Amino acid sequence: MTNRMPELLCPAGNLESLEAALHFGADAVYGGMKQFGLRAFAGNFDEEALTQAVEKMHGAGKKFYLTMNIFPFDDQLDDFIAAAKAARDIGVDAAIVSDLGAIAALRREVPELPLHVSTQASTVNAEAVRVYRDMGCERVILARETSIARAKEIIRRVPEMEIETFVHGASCMAYSGRCLLSAAMAGRSGNQGECAQPCRWHYSVVEEKRPSEYMPVCEDENGTYIFSAHDLNLMPLLPELVDAGIKSLKIEGRMKTAYYVATVTAAYRRALDLLADGGDFAAALPGLMAELSCASHRDSDTGFALGKPANPGGADGFHQEREYLAHVVEGSRDGRGTRFLLKNRFKAGETIELLTPSGVHAFEAVPFLREKTGEIVDTLGIGGEIIRMDIPFATETGDFLRGETRNHRK
Ligand code: SF4
Repeated sequence: MTNRMPELLCPAGNLESLEAALHFGADAVYGGMKQFGLRAFAGNFDEEALTQAVEKMHGAGKKFYLTMNIFPFDDQLDDFIAAAKAARDIGVDAAIVSDLGAIAALRREVPELPLHVSTQASTVNAEAVRVYRDMGCERVILARETSIARAKEIIRRVPEMEIETFVHGASCMAYSGRCLLSAAMAGRSGNQGECAQPCRWHYSVVEEKRPSEYMPVCEDENGTYIFSAHDLNLMPLLPELVDAGIKSLKIEGRMKTAYYVATVTAAYRRALDLLADGGDFAAALPGLMAELSCASHRDSDTGFALGKPANPGGADGFHQEREYLAHVVEGSRDGRGTRFLLKNRFKAGETIELLTPSGVHAFEAVPFLREKTGEIVDTLGIGGEIIRMDIPFATETGDFLRGETRNHRK
């Protein structure tokens, strides 16, 4: 990576995703502790796992940022500060925080811990960035509603601050996630990390006097998803983001699978390396976009990056061109006898793919050894078992096997 290339910052909902991010080229990851991280239902890290995670990242010369971006009430602040002190002692590279009071308290009580201002703080202008600078923060993650042109202007006006933006993943229909829909409809507050995602539910119209009659509202053959924002995909605008001087590009997805993290990280790593080497980005873009479609996603667009979004809502269910079949737990230099942890069923004779940091290799699956019983089998429907299979390419621990998606969910 050249000096002007941004950091690639990837989600780590748990150690498995962290390893996928590391293997496929993340410069840094972000993850949460069991409390305070706005993703209460991701696996998250207890102190022991956090120590392991930070050691793993630092051992590879990479960084770990800890999400602490809930809006704590007064009676939560003591525990919040205690957690930040523990994180500082473990050696996290920064805490990601949203709340002004939390920032002030952490600056006073834990001054050695670098602070990044979360996108939840909805920062969209240079004045606000200066306020956070003056409070002692190092970085601001801009609200998703900030266009690239506006981000560039903020960087010009406050060049001493690091600016981070989201480039990929799910978006909220509410202003950078400031939303009470889940709290109102499911009793789970998004601002306390417990969002039930009611914006993704399927809605009908009900007339007051006929409460049992649900009248469908059809946008298309899948019904209507009027609150469901499109996913963000800024891959086509990566050259503009680099040119704008963005310090860090963030991929959303702490609740997503390690396979998702691997696929999206690999695509952005390839793209950034290509740009760093002065390669032909326009020629590579269709392949990069096809690669991103192999991970689970909704309809996607460039959000607010170019100004007003073209698609304010209406994204239906998930699409995914490839399915996670297995991942390598012990690689092999010539591919023979590679050990995999099986996730989903596949059959000998099917064309499947090996996803590696250097690219994707398609091949025909052959019968494989079921380690538990010593049998050679053509297929196996039990996820979680270890199998050994000969692969016609070198394999490394952390590579993934994937195949065409059997059940496209819409
Ligand atoms: S309900 Fe939807 S828009 Fe609101 S916080 Fe949750 S994911 Fe975001």
